Amino acid sequence: MKILVINCGSSSLKFQLIDSDSEQVICKGLCERIGIDGSQISYTPAGKDKVTVVTPMPDHNKAIELVIEALTNKDNGVVSSLSEIGAVGHRIVHGGEKFTKSVVITEEVIKAIEEVSDLAPLHNPANLIGIRACQKVMPGVPMVAVFDTAFHQTMPQDAYLYGLPYSYYEKYGIRRYGFHGTSHSYVSKRAVELLGKDAKDLKLIVCHLGNGASISAVDGGKCVDTSMGLTPLEGLIMGTRSGDIDPSVVEFIMKKENSTVADVTNLLNKKSGVFGLSDDLSSDFRDLEEGYNNGHAGARRAVDAFVYRVVKYIGSYTAAMGGVDAICFTAGVGENSGFVRKLICDRLGFIGAKIDVEANKVRGEEKTISTPDSKVTLLVVPTNEELAIARDTVALCK
Ligand code: ADP
Repeated sequence: MKILVINCGSSSLKFQLIDSDSEQVICKGLCERIGIDGSQISYTPAGKDKVTVVTPMPDHNKAIELVIEALTNKDNGVVSSLSEIGAVGHRIVHGGEKFTKSVVITEEVIKAIEEVSDLAPLHNPANLIGIRACQKVMPGVPMVAVFDTAFHQTMPQDAYLYGLPYSYYEKYGIRRYGFHGTSHSYVSKRAVELLGKDAKDLKLIVCHLGNGASISAVDGGKCVDTSMGLTPLEGLIMGTRSGDIDPSVVEFIMKKENSTVADVTNLLNKKSGVFGLSDDLSSDFRDLEEGYNNGHAGARRAVDAFVYRVVKYIGSYTAAMGGVDAICFTAGVGENSGFVRKLICDRLGFIGAKIDVEANKVRGEEKTISTPDSKVTLLVVPTNEELAIARDTVALCK
């Protein structure tokens, strides 16, 4: 079966067509600047060159039409007709407490996603627009919703409650939800396979270090804690997001700068993290590594703080689980930056983890990067959220 995976944002739409039998990507692409001047679709059919078409895209319906046209066109299309697409899998950012796993999309599911949209006001409405646009262009094709939050729903109350009046949880659902769940789920399951043990016997820590970064503790195959919270702002220091701060900082900055909550929220999401700490040098770890090695004070400050925060979380999750068998690195930085992985692992001697410097040269491939005598296995496991979405979609649509 061919599965179309859709990740719909407010002005962008990423897609992949995946053959569920071979699990190969048949075509992947991106619609950008939807509803804005200068919109374009770019896509790469497997084994062919990238195609870019600049064309008006007033809304997401038009974007989906263009995706279908890209997949079916005579010159560089990859399917002969729309009927070859067996199902569509949609990435949905927030499933609240309603969704603990992926589900087939029905009108009730759409309503339930709408009901939790106040928890992700920028993302869920865009995800819903993507669903509606696909339904319009591909009526009758089964669709599945895969939630970023679902994997983390197994967290115990101790881990997901904030120290707030309990009524705020009851009334408004204020709690830790966690994100990147599809990635944490995929990587932890893959790590279990690579370790050749039963999931129930393994305590894992998954470090998803990308532009957005989060870390999770997975005990016996179930998520027991994760660093992102009500929103993806909490936890690790990220590309441009602050991660954990004292909540009083918000009011303090507002008074000092005579600014609004929206201004500070924007600052914490877009101008903070390693970007802000490096004196606006960059949010990209390739630039930061270069700066670090050239003695750029801001790059050093940012990378050291980033690494320190990851190590602190690894320590706390080891304590939370009463031990750790393996630590997995994934996403852009985790998969590609041996430099960052080494800085982190060099501080993990307290749990008996030892990095193999030669093995750590790996980029973007599954590999054990710990020494044979390391007490904790260190692994690089490239994530594949689209494949995980396609797998769930097939399983539910069979
Ligand atoms: P997201 O999906 O959150 O946007 P990714 O997981 O794609 O992010 O990670 C993107 C980040 O990965 C980039 O900002 C960059 O910092 C980092 N990255 C990618 N390739 C490398 C590399 N070769 N070395 C160091 N960092 C890299």
